[in-house]
Amino acid sequence: MVTRISHWIDGAVVPGTSGRTGPVYNPATGLQSGEVDLASAEEVNGAVASAKAAAAEWRSSSLSRRSAVLFAFRELLHDGADELAKILTAEHGKVLADAHGEIARGLENVEFACGVPQLLKGGFSEQASSGVDVYSIRQPLGVVAGITPFNFPAMVPLWMAANAIACGNAFVLKPSEKDPSSSMWLAEAWKKAGLPDGVFSVVHGDKEAVDALLTHPDIAAVSFVGSTPIARYIYETGTAHGKRVQALGGAKNHMVVLPDADVDMAADAAVSAAYGAAGERCMAISVAVAVGDVGGPLVDAIAARLPKLRVGNGADPDSEMGPLITREHRDKVAGYIASGAESGAVVVVDGREADVPSDGFFLGTTLLDQVTPEMEVYRDEIFGPVLCVVRADTYEEALELVNANQYANGVAIFTRDGGAARQFQFDVEVGMVGINVPIPVPVAYYSFGGWKASLFGDTHMYGPEGINFYTRGKVVTSRWPDPATSVIDLGFPRTR
Ligand code: NAD
Repeated sequence: MVTRISHWIDGAVVPGTSGRTGPVYNPATGLQSGEVDLASAEEVNGAVASAKAAAAEWRSSSLSRRSAVLFAFRELLHDGADELAKILTAEHGKVLADAHGEIARGLENVEFACGVPQLLKGGFSEQASSGVDVYSIRQPLGVVAGITPFNFPAMVPLWMAANAIACGNAFVLKPSEKDPSSSMWLAEAWKKAGLPDGVFSVVHGDKEAVDALLTHPDIAAVSFVGSTPIARYIYETGTAHGKRVQALGGAKNHMVVLPDADVDMAADAAVSAAYGAAGERCMAISVAVAVGDVGGPLVDAIAARLPKLRVGNGADPDSEMGPLITREHRDKVAGYIASGAESGAVVVVDGREADVPSDGFFLGTTLLDQVTPEMEVYRDEIFGPVLCVVRADTYEEALELVNANQYANGVAIFTRDGGAARQFQFDVEVGMVGINVPIPVPVAYYSFGGWKASLFGDTHMYGPEGINFYTRGKVVTSRWPDPATSVIDLGFPRTR
């Protein structure tokens, strides 16, 4: 059965009117499971008009009311995790354990936003001048938009929406058209939590809907997560139309393994970080940089683990890695394995030859050794279950390699040497650094963001930077008349 997935505007499901739709698949079966409406510019305008009206009300709601809605939403998300995880697995393909992990990381952001009364506190300077006080407040922007990728269809919208709404904005989400259903689950949960209609809306769509948001005069800010070329486009177009934009792009995350590292620990970390969610994570490790003589033992240890990794339908609790998002993407990733082999990389494990389900968009795990920086498999973001190993003679060579890469989202170092790790943390030009931690996604009370081609704009996402992004600062300088000069009779003597 093919389900129709429509927009969520003004607190209700609204069928699309553009006449354009896109297919949604279950990647584990290869069968179409849904048909998603793709919004026209007029439909986007309708959603923004509803959001604008709702924003005017919502910004005047008390902090305790906003916080109460967030606490209620938190409970619904927590209690509904099984149901939401099934939706994520059915459309994205990730295994249920990963889907639960995604929800847990989204939940953290909702919990952070529950503390909005604390987060929005301003500063106060009494008697900045004689009889003059100065204080700062932060106010919402109005209507803000979020444009999100397929790989975390619940978590990334929550990175944005929880803080945006807590700060008093209305949020319009344009989720990935490849796995749109979880955004509808979130919309219903917001409504059940008591959020007024129009404060959270979902418009499904493609470039047409995105362009309508980027150019709409009533959209004050745009948060984007996706690939680098689109992130650049979003940033340039949104800012050219006067909007505040944070646009997180693609990645090529390295894991530097020093000769003194615990090889088993590093191999376990490499396997989970490179192949978890079939490598479709923006913080996935895609290059292991083996320094000195650790290369041989590391490659052997990773290769030994791969046959044990169970690839299958994510809904099966025994599966550890699911399929890729689409047939085209699976074929593109397989093409990279061929390209690596042709350019001289050693194919230690070939995912194309793996025994994986023939239905659906599966590909086995691939390990490429002796990869060099000019190879396509090194330069491009593959976004699949392919780990490249680059050999480096020294720490300096490894560092130079990482710092020369255009992407700078996450990086990890594996070593037992605290001094070396500390030096690396100082030297490396990457936004998020793990020390013996392969996927250093910051907890919700820090902020998430890469450097260079992994981020356009200067504000990282969620955490304190998220609160700043979704609010404008205002400073008030105030002087009150001397009470002794007041003409109002208070009925008791005035004192100073
Ligand atoms: P994508 O860039 O193809 O799509 C992201 C969003 O942009 C979707 O909503 C899509 O509909 C929209 N879009 C696509 N093409 C567009 C166009 N031409 N004009 C306007 N809008 C367009 O990304 P994806 O394939 O959904 O997600 C995978 C990518 O996201 C990877 O590159 C990954 O590294 C990146 N990502 C980055 C982070 C991060 O935090 N830096 C997190 C998750 C994913």
